[in-house]
Amino acid sequence: MGEIHIKGKDTSYFYEVIVVGAGISGLLTALALSKEGKRVLILEKTENLGGVCRSYDIDGYQVDTGPHIITRLEHGPLKELMSKYFDVIPNFVPHGRYYVRLNSRIKPFPWNLQGWFNFDLIPQIDRIYLMKTLFGISYIFNSGEDLSRKSVGDLVGSNISESTKRFLNCMSYFMTGTSMNETPVARFLDSEHYKTTSAGFLDKLYNILMKEGAVDQAYPKGGIQSLITAIISSFPRDRVDIRTGEKVLSINSGDKIRVETTKEEYECETLIYSGFASDIPGLIDNLPKEHVQSLSKLHKTSALTIWLGLNRKIFTRDGSEIWADSNPYTWAVPISNYDNSLAPNGRQLVGFMSRLENDNNFEKEKEKALNAIFSIIPEIENHIEMTHHQVLIPEKAAWTIDTKFADIRTPVKGIYLVGTDTERRSMGITRASYSVIKLLSVLREDKVL
Ligand SMILES: Cc1cc2nc3c(=O)[nH]c(=O)nc-3n(C[C@H](O)[C@H](O)[C@H](O)COP(=O)(O)OP(=O)(O)OC[C@H]3O[C@@H](n4cnc5c(N)ncnc54)[C@H](O)[C@@H]3O)c2cc1C
Repeated sequence: MGEIHIKGKDTSYFYEVIVVGAGISGLLTALALSKEGKRVLILEKTENLGGVCRSYDIDGYQVDTGPHIITRLEHGPLKELMSKYFDVIPNFVPHGRYYVRLNSRIKPFPWNLQGWFNFDLIPQIDRIYLMKTLFGISYIFNSGEDLSRKSVGDLVGSNISESTKRFLNCMSYFMTGTSMNETPVARFLDSEHYKTTSAGFLDKLYNILMKEGAVDQAYPKGGIQSLITAIISSFPRDRVDIRTGEKVLSINSGDKIRVETTKEEYECETLIYSGFASDIPGLIDNLPKEHVQSLSKLHKTSALTIWLGLNRKIFTRDGSEIWADSNPYTWAVPISNYDNSLAPNGRQLVGFMSRLENDNNFEKEKEKALNAIFSIIPEIENHIEMTHHQVLIPEKAAWTIDTKFADIRTPVKGIYLVGTDTERRSMGITRASYSVIKLLSVLREDKVL
């Protein structure tokens, strides 16, 4: 990367744009703005690029920071950014199907009416009841009730079997990281899968009932790191400077924005912050009280991932498995099935992700998660040759009944936010990409671009 920072009149370095954080949101932002002609500095507090979207080696296995499947790949916001700004595009391998394990049986996830009728892992009477409930939503929708304030648990009530509750709870955890009593109905209806051009409720319902879902999902060959490598390789020469191991300590606005890190001081015209929005009151002085208060409502959940390197291939299906039977609920993704170079020859690498209920009792939670894995597929225990675990926060704001999302604009001129806590749509990388697209349009409105 070329050295493009210019020492200002005083002791600070000056850039047109400073991006705080080198996760996928920060890197995509830096790429887009540099391709739009801006000189950009990226400041990252860790020594790594990618944030919770990167890969590294453990005993010859290449693990990701949690199992990752990219959603809406062909028709979503990442594709839009890749088409416009990437010089190098990673190779993607289709995800395959989502399988659900419940009551010791396994079936493909029921994406549509036909799948639902065949989904006999839960009682037929519950399936009919849930279908009627789904139709009933149209009345709630028309009555103007806010479906982001109504939980899935409230909607379905208690008249369902234990296994149906487990299924709904498991899916809620999978989609939002929280239980069905905290997951808003809107989170499910918000899905692009349910979207239509006219966006009428009946059209959405039609899509839920008739369309095949999750066909537009994929894993990047070479691991999730290949996405980060593609972004970095696409940075225009001499327009992007990256400094790792520099934590931003304070941001002060005035004529110019001044940024102090653990090592240096910088100035810029525009600052984009991609860390936790809830941290900015600690970085920027004198934010209005209401703003600080609204940021305190951002709700986050932690995930535990256990990576197992297996000395033989145990997962042979064409996608990933959602375990509603296990405690904790678990998502098992055999990533070496997408790219066998991620595991040594003849081995298999599988990521098992679950919600971390209690950050303070980690050893116990880890043991519980491992036992859950062995209780579902006992033979795994005899084939482990590598174990690695990670505790990470998948999204900077989880979708719950009372959660808030942050605005892209802050009350301070020239300072903007980007990342998964500034956007409600979708999840993970797709949500991060939506937030970058929204940021770019805000910057255009504000004549920064
Ligand atoms: C277990 C797990 C599974 C996942 N599965 C999927 C999946 O299947 N599909 C999917 O699309 N997504 C998935 N995700 C989510 C996805 O990885 C994240 O939502 C996305 O990478 C978040 O990107 P971000 O840039 O917004 O945030 P982050 O990656 O958190 O980046 C923020 C960066 O800012 C830096 N930073 C913060 N404060 C400062 C400061 N003061 N100074 C300097 N630097 C700072 C941080 O160090 C970090 O690098 C998963 C995540 C996890 C953890």
